[in-house]
Amino acid sequence: MKLNQFVIIGLGRFGSSVGKELMQLGHEVLGIDSNEERVDDMSNILTHAVVADATEEDVLRSLGVRNFDCGVVAIGDDIQNSILTAILLKDLGVKQVVAKALSELHGRVLEKIGVDRVIYPERDMGIRVAHQLVSPNLLDY
Ligand code: ATP
Repeated sequence: MKLNQFVIIGLGRFGSSVGKELMQLGHEVLGIDSNEERVDDMSNILTHAVVADATEEDVLRSLGVRNFDCGVVAIGDDIQNSILTAILLKDLGVKQVVAKALSELHGRVLEKIGVDRVIYPERDMGIRVAHQLVSPNLLDY
């Protein structure tokens, strides 16, 4: 399997879970969060974890995010920060940008600005659970 470099912005439950799993799979992960406590919690788990505001273009540039294969925008609640971060990652040239959306409208905006894949964690997990409930032998839908 090819080793990839991922940058994850937002180290809440979703972002930290994605980051941990990517590390388990042997990839390199840079985590960014404006909350120092969240960064501290992940500093021994990820390849690098830094405190930074991802809506500042110069900050993203100085962290070299354009060299990453994939950027994951794991900011949900603050829609403005999610959209600004996603557009900056696209403009800086990150090859694949994935972002989580909390609502249909939020997702539509992310798609319009060119996000390659929009994820709806609650909706997708609900669909998965429903399939598992009716087909208990289906371990991974
Ligand atoms: P989750 O549902 O994944 O637990 P959450 O409810 O903790 O997430 P969200 O609002 O989705 O919170 O944000 C996830 C993380 O994104 C938070 O840790 C927050 O500090 C971080 N974050 C928000 N805005 C920025 C930003 N501009 N730059 C960097 N990190 C940010």
